Amino acid sequence: MKSGELLMYNSLSRQKEVFKPIQEGYVGMYVCGPTVYNDVHLGNCRTFISFDIIYRYLTYLGYQVRYVRNITDVGHLLDDGEDRMSKGARLDNLEPMEVAQKYTNGFHDIMRTFNTLSPGIEPRATGHILEQIEMVTEILKNGLAYEKNGSVYFDTVKYAEKTGEYGKLSGRVIDELLSETRDNLKNQDEKNHPSDFAIWMKASDEHIMKWNSPWSVGFPGWHLECSAMSTKYLGKKFDIHGGGNDLKFPHHENEIAQNVGACNCQPANYWLHTNMLLMNGKKMSKSDGNTISPQELFTGASEHVSKGYHPMVVRFFMLQSHYRSTNDLTDEGLQAAEKGFKRIMEAFKSVHSLHSDIENIAPLDQKIDEIIQGAFDDMNDDFNTPRVLARLFELVTFINSLKEGQIKMSEVSNDALEKIKSTLYTILFEIFGLKDESETNAGPVDGLMQLVIELRQLARTNKDWPTSDKIRDSLSDLNIQIKDGKEGSSWSYK
Ligand code: AMP
Ligand code: ZN
Repeated sequence: MKSGELLMYNSLSRQKEVFKPIQEGYVGMYVCGPTVYNDVHLGNCRTFISFDIIYRYLTYLGYQVRYVRNITDVGHLLDDGEDRMSKGARLDNLEPMEVAQKYTNGFHDIMRTFNTLSPGIEPRATGHILEQIEMVTEILKNGLAYEKNGSVYFDTVKYAEKTGEYGKLSGRVIDELLSETRDNLKNQDEKNHPSDFAIWMKASDEHIMKWNSPWSVGFPGWHLECSAMSTKYLGKKFDIHGGGNDLKFPHHENEIAQNVGACNCQPANYWLHTNMLLMNGKKMSKSDGNTISPQELFTGASEHVSKGYHPMVVRFFMLQSHYRSTNDLTDEGLQAAEKGFKRIMEAFKSVHSLHSDIENIAPLDQKIDEIIQGAFDDMNDDFNTPRVLARLFELVTFINSLKEGQIKMSEVSNDALEKIKSTLYTILFEIFGLKDESETNAGPVDGLMQLVIELRQLARTNKDWPTSDKIRDSLSDLNIQIKDGKEGSSWSYK
């Protein structure tokens, strides 16, 4: 295990705490995954990239990490009460399970493009209906839920009386919750209190996804899946539970209540939450058009960006903000990230051509050690990636000064140069999960597409319509479309 204390901000205690795993050398980590009824958006990607870096860092420190990230494919209802999966099925004219598979595949593709490591276990809610039914049974047995007309509701008032804990994570108090307006559940009048929530819902005749249970043919409440699956794969008590800020309430608050209700045990020791990705200072939102898909961002086929950005530039851009701060996506910010990313990658290459003959300690060695130690201290300080990057840029300046002769090679030992090389390698590639843009596929693909676009343009200029039509049709067969704009043509996947 690497030395140094790792501090984590725990949303439950609202302070940074020294990380102490339950079992030495092992970390159990559960992260709430996507609801697979439509394409993941960049905001989702920010959260998953943040946890990828946490996963990578824990692994780097020497922990064996059991990383579980679920797939939500049932029970997550829309404001009007419709299941998100049924809506996806209706819109795409598919079976709900086809919808789940389609968007799970798309999610995996995007995660791979961002060089995000796969979790060790990726359980689906629909694959764990029995476990969820068992959990409802336990909660009922413990007197913290009640059945009405085939649906089962968690009794938040009884739970609050018994534990005094409801609202602890989100900072809401039970009186506030009781007076809150109606939530998105149908059958509101069946509940004893407005803050109670369904853990099993009786399905209407037209509802597509439903299962037999002791109470009715129905489906589990959304929050239940994470309680049941985290318990199954990580145990009643595990180390880290994560997700986006927007999940604190009601999802995670209710998850805690269910775990305590069923197992008499608060599930996770550390609750980690990422902050939201914004675009041009406003919440990213599909309904008011303030959104951009990962593909649009990569190809530049969007009014919000002046050109396409490589996935590694986007990943680098995300690293420039701390995971608990909001991150504002702008074209200018991406351009700056592109410059920074190139600068750091070039320095990484040029340091390999440098060599010092000094075998003993040289005047600048201590300074280099301090910068490197500082980078790991920053990472240990609640995964402060922007501060780590600032340290790496100090090394970049140093490398460039050596290269250009402003600093003499005699001022640094060969050992110190080797340390710079290995530190840059470890942090950039192993911990931050970046890849050199020139070694990734998107570079050549983009280059080839530019060539195809130019050939098509040439054919059009020569009024060679059969050739230009053939290019368009063949690209269309490959699911690629070309968009002609004022500033030239761009391409994107359909
Ligand atoms: P969902 O599929 O909506 O349940 O979201 C999957 C994950 O992405 C959850 O952890 C959300 O909190 C997170 N998330 C959703 N929107 C954003 C956003 N704009 N920025 C960062 N994370 C987000
Ligand atoms: Zn969850």
